[in-house]
Amino acid sequence: MKVRTRFAPSPTGYLHIGGLRTALYAYLYAKKNGGDFILRLEDTDRERLVDQAAEIIYRTLKDTGLQYDEGPDIGGSFGPYVQSDRKGLYQKYAEELVQKGAAYYCFCTKERLAELREQCEKSNVTPKYDKHCMSLSQEEVQKRIEAGEPYVIRQNIPIEGETAYHDMVYGEITVPNSDMEDNILLKSDGYPTYNLANVVDDHLMEISHVIRGIEYLSSTPKYNLLYDALGWSIPEYIHLPPVMRDKQNKLSKRHGDASYEDFVQKGYLPQAVVNYIALLGWSPAGEQEIFSLEELVQAFDVKGISKSPAIFDVEKLKWMNAEYIRALPEEDYIKLAMPYLEQVIDVEKFDLPLIARITQQRLEVFADLPEKLAFLAQMPEYETDLYNHKKMKVTPESALVYLKEANPVLESLAEFTESYIHDAMMELVQKLGIKNGQLLYPLRIAITGTAVTPGGAIEIAALLGRHETLERMRMSIDKLERELGRV
Ligand code: GLU
Repeated sequence: MKVRTRFAPSPTGYLHIGGLRTALYAYLYAKKNGGDFILRLEDTDRERLVDQAAEIIYRTLKDTGLQYDEGPDIGGSFGPYVQSDRKGLYQKYAEELVQKGAAYYCFCTKERLAELREQCEKSNVTPKYDKHCMSLSQEEVQKRIEAGEPYVIRQNIPIEGETAYHDMVYGEITVPNSDMEDNILLKSDGYPTYNLANVVDDHLMEISHVIRGIEYLSSTPKYNLLYDALGWSIPEYIHLPPVMRDKQNKLSKRHGDASYEDFVQKGYLPQAVVNYIALLGWSPAGEQEIFSLEELVQAFDVKGISKSPAIFDVEKLKWMNAEYIRALPEEDYIKLAMPYLEQVIDVEKFDLPLIARITQQRLEVFADLPEKLAFLAQMPEYETDLYNHKKMKVTPESALVYLKEANPVLESLAEFTESYIHDAMMELVQKLGIKNGQLLYPLRIAITGTAVTPGGAIEIAALLGRHETLERMRMSIDKLERELGRV
């Protein structure tokens, strides 16, 4: 049988990291086994619909390279791929389930259901529908439907016994039937609930392996009862462990760590995110950690999926992102950095390859760039105390002397490029008989106002250009003279 997996998100307006991991594993499993990966939108909860939600899903799957073989925007021979477009399809199966005794019509009003819930709560039992409408005769049901009374169709779960199945990750799962509820299959608006739709669609779309979050692990027996009642074969199941922020807490929208978009906005690279989430709950056989998507396809194995929750470690993701940034060709780096550079500098005025050279090797996320390069736009206020560096034998006094030496040298350089600046400064160091740091350390502070910058004094001077470098030096020299009482 051909392997067919699907990703079936509800379009909520953003793609949860856990959801993206589900999509990734479904993609990897299909591709590893020469199968098809299908995208299906589950939008039957009409109250939760969000504009643009479908586009966000299409875009995310494209950006991350999880190319589906069939889906709403590309078609396929098992469509339509949006559940609301399949609405007409479900009623017939719901009715078939009624005929077979696996489901029944229910006319209970909101008020009766609320009362029932209240009673259950009062007597401390888990609220559960009481099969009240199951006893209605066929004639009565018919009469009430014809009279236009609103109804739903509910699943008829056996009262006794248990239902078991095998999950490829979690093994034998057995649920007592008394733990399950007669959930609604078809709503009064004619839309199916997830309970019915996932079964009908997975069957009609010939899904061989259902890969989804662990929250469905214990309700799967319910769906299997429907497969059985309809005489359909049950797919294989691969339920996935949850992705958590820490042992107690889920990833949350409020913390800005729940969605794929959150990370892309912070300047993470899609391929780094994909690589990282592949390892959230799955371990490859060897030590390798950096994988391209093709390599993941080769390496993926259900045996490596863990049963316990995966903890989302942002530090690890940062490390991985830095690896991907480092590996970028310079032009790509500049292109990706551009929106962040534009936040702080006039990009026309700077030597971008030089910026790449001083920032690319140690950058973790692009969003760090504006802060790291803020000194290029404006010299921050700083304390003269900053010049004190015992180990390098630098004091505000020595800084003043050497800066005054460097100033005319820089002023008279034939060309204000990195190599000219470098040679001139090295020559000056020699002439003064000092160590490089005794000149370059104060020079960097004098032209950036900080002691920690990407790149050293020479590169930064070249970036700033002659005019700006000299002006900043002048200001720093004046400041030192003032504060050391030399004027
Ligand atoms: N629409 C469901 C969700 O977003 C899909 C679950 C499944 O994959 O069956 O959770």
